[in-house]
Amino acid sequence: MDVTVVGSCNIDLISYVPRLPKPGETLQGSKFSMGFGGKGANQCVMTAKLGAKTAMVGKVGKDTFGEDFLKNFNNLGVDTTHCCTTAEVMTGAAPICVDETGQNSIVIVPGANLLLSEADLAAAELVIAGSKVVVCQLEINPDVTLAALKMAKQHKVRTILNPAPAIPLKHEFFENTDIICPNETESVDDAKRACKELQARGCGSVVVTLGAQGLLVSVEKDAPPTHVPAPSVHVVDTTGAGDSFIGALAFFLSTRPDLGLVESCRRAVQIASISVQAPGTQTSFPTRSQLPQELF
Ligand code: ADP
Repeated sequence: MDVTVVGSCNIDLISYVPRLPKPGETLQGSKFSMGFGGKGANQCVMTAKLGAKTAMVGKVGKDTFGEDFLKNFNNLGVDTTHCCTTAEVMTGAAPICVDETGQNSIVIVPGANLLLSEADLAAAELVIAGSKVVVCQLEINPDVTLAALKMAKQHKVRTILNPAPAIPLKHEFFENTDIICPNETESVDDAKRACKELQARGCGSVVVTLGAQGLLVSVEKDAPPTHVPAPSVHVVDTTGAGDSFIGALAFFLSTRPDLGLVESCRRAVQIASISVQAPGTQTSFPTRSQLPQELF
């Protein structure tokens, strides 16, 4: 494998409503749509769409959402040998309401994601050990995320951690992370402070994404970070932009190790900035054939 993602699969259930409902109120919506989501699945799909050999380690329910999830991965060429199923709870789901101003309210029910266990991870050890890059987030049991990072490091596999959602982390997370990618802070100065702080805690490199401002990348402790601007584009929907970036970064680090971290970030920013110009999450991620070939 080029990239293995250990993380979440959530089905997004999106209702478009005139306004967000009040407690006890029943509202009629104008449109409903379903989408494949979860940070793990999104990042994995981005990597696969760019053409890397990609595996997903995760858990879905034995239900129609879970079946659809596995089909979607397989259609995109993602290896799902270690995407397990459980009959105990349902596939992770996110009922979302979006109002006419674009404001949303979201409930996430992690379901099967929280049942991904260290035993499931142990079953995937060969795949992890044979990967060039392992990517993790925090939408599954954090102990399993930490075990995945440690397992990858034991096998000298490069690790990327997207620490989302933000939760307090033990020092071992930082020590087993080669590249930590938190998203949006308030300003470039905040991002600089975050780089210093995270490297002091033991992370190798830090990439802080800054939305329309691109990102700040600090390759090494004590070296000055580099600001990579994002192209100015017509924004349609930024949902999943950070996942697009991380999936693309993992793609370049695994398939073009000659580029180095800063150039990989530059190319991944181009791809994430394309994803914000189309609606939806995974549906907005471009495939290799839709991109200029010089990027590869
Ligand atoms: P998240 O989706 O996790 O909040 P960010 O908003 O920081 O992540 O976005 C990640 C990347 O997506 C940015 O580094 C940039 O490349 C791209 N991006 C996001 N918003 C915009 C925007 N308004 N214009 C151009 N690119 C954007």
